[in-house]
Amino acid sequence: MTAWICATCGVQHVDTPGPPRTCPICADERQWVPRDGQRWTTLEELAAAGHRTVSRELEPNLVGIGVEPSFGIGQRALLVRTPAGNLLWDPPGFLDDAAIARVRELGGLAAVAASHPHFYGVQVEWSHAFGGAPVLVPEADREWVMRPDPAVTFWAGTYSPLPGVTLVQCGGHFDGSAVVHWRDGADGRGALFTGDTITVVADRHHVSFMRSYPNLIPLPAEEIERILAAVAPYAYDRVYGGWWDRVIEDGAERAVRRSADRYLAWLRVHRP
Ligand SMILES: [Zn+2]
Ligand SMILES: [Zn+2]
Repeated sequence: MTAWICATCGVQHVDTPGPPRTCPICADERQWVPRDGQRWTTLEELAAAGHRTVSRELEPNLVGIGVEPSFGIGQRALLVRTPAGNLLWDPPGFLDDAAIARVRELGGLAAVAASHPHFYGVQVEWSHAFGGAPVLVPEADREWVMRPDPAVTFWAGTYSPLPGVTLVQCGGHFDGSAVVHWRDGADGRGALFTGDTITVVADRHHVSFMRSYPNLIPLPAEEIERILAAVAPYAYDRVYGGWWDRVIEDGAERAVRRSADRYLAWLRVHRP
């Protein structure tokens, strides 16, 4: 059987003889289905079409792993390395032997996790390649697991798979939308990996928060406050968003506060 991958979001689904009829993640109001209808692909087909993984060191003990040409939503994964093992965050919808070899060289995988269902990618393939490493999914997003597997492990609130690496459930975009706090990132000043939970915008000095990014559905003030409160206990100076070029190099804690203040101010504006 084949584990079909949705060509739009890049999320891999359960093994079935033929492709599923719909991708519930893309049929949801936060994503979209192409005009010509749902399309499916496979790892083999993507490799034959010339996709390959690329990896780059972003700072000491942090490696980005992306796909070229870009596939699905186009996120690049982050592999954070610690003396106790490595966490892979936000895997794209494609992997190859080169990516597996690279991660093996870097010390393997202790766990896989993602900011939200749009970025589950081929998380179960990664787990299988590394001895069934746990795939950490927030309990609140259980319904969005498209490829169930014994490795899927549910968590809620906060969870530290490795010393100095903490998953923080923030909500907002999805109820289970999460970030990673990496204590030792940015030369010890701390870093957040945020995916679409706190999305780094084009100017790379601000972030934003949306229920849907492609369909431009905003979030209410209470959800913005909930996200801010969830990350408030953590010190950080750098934010890695979901894509190669979406990084706030320093002053990120102030940038998040400034961006939230701006968002909340616009929500309060009334023009009679
Ligand atoms: Zn999809
Ligand atoms: Zn998303």
